[in-house]
Amino acid sequence: MHASISCSPSWVSDGTSLVTGALVTGASAGIGNAFASQLAARGNDVVLVARDRARLEAMAAELAARHRVAVEVLAADLTDPAQLASVEGRLADRDRPVDVLVNNAGYGTNGDFAQLDRDTEAREIGLNVVALVRLTHAALAPMLERGRGAVLNVGSLAGGQPTPGNATYGATKAFVSSFTQSVHEELRGSGVHVTVVCPGFTRTEFQGRAGIDSSKVPGFLWQSAEEVAAGALDALDHNRAVYVPGTLNRLTAAVVSALPDALTRRVAGFIVAQAE
Ligand code: NAP
Repeated sequence: MHASISCSPSWVSDGTSLVTGALVTGASAGIGNAFASQLAARGNDVVLVARDRARLEAMAAELAARHRVAVEVLAADLTDPAQLASVEGRLADRDRPVDVLVNNAGYGTNGDFAQLDRDTEAREIGLNVVALVRLTHAALAPMLERGRGAVLNVGSLAGGQPTPGNATYGATKAFVSSFTQSVHEELRGSGVHVTVVCPGFTRTEFQGRAGIDSSKVPGFLWQSAEEVAAGALDALDHNRAVYVPGTLNRLTAAVVSALPDALTRRVAGFIVAQAE
């Protein structure tokens, strides 16, 4: 299941190296790809996790050559308990420390909940919630022993209010936001940073995979994966609990949080109905 492409000394085990290891889930595409590239550009060795091994290996070769860091491929379906356990094991490996974990892998589903496939909805919770919780837990024990480390969880603007038409997706991202903020508070003063990033519309493969027609979403609402990742890594450096990329997204989040739930869910339902 593992493959390693290295062009510099690999993970250092004596704890004295300045090289920091990072592990990024969902690294084969979109925002995860941008996270992995930017972490490698900062000089971090990187472990790339996703299902598509060929894509990860091509990316590993490119990152290793460009940034002269060690890049490891760990192909895993994080909704599969045995494969998820292998990633947990990698995070728990004290000989090859991971100081930065980015829980980015996720997907959405689109349509009325009652009409959607039950197993796909359950797997969505498995990836967006269960895998994120298990990987965070696995990473934190060694980080707390070392008194340093960072966990970045990818939520969504969709987690800030009910999302009719994407009911399970919005609920998973509400979980990510609440969970991450609680752990952030628990770890205050520990030396371990914990941040949730809540992107809005970001140009990736996400909408296509979710079967969402985003052609009517105006251009000014979109951000690039690179912008989102850069801002999120900066927020993680500063141990911010929550980071919403983009002024417009921050304004939306502020307005939504000030309104009563009954209003936001009806407005959200109305918008979905207009789009159909
Ligand atoms: P994306 O381009 O579709 O990338 C998703 C990544 O997750 C891919 O690398 C995919 O790789 C991986 N993945 C999917 N299922 C997996 C599984 N079962 N096990 C392991 N890896 C899996 O989407 P993205 O926009 O970059 O999404 C990244 C995160 O941003 C997600 O958590 C998403 O909810 C969040 N987000 C996105 C947007 C947006 O507008 N794009 C907005 C807000 C939040 P493989 O297929 O190779 O496994």
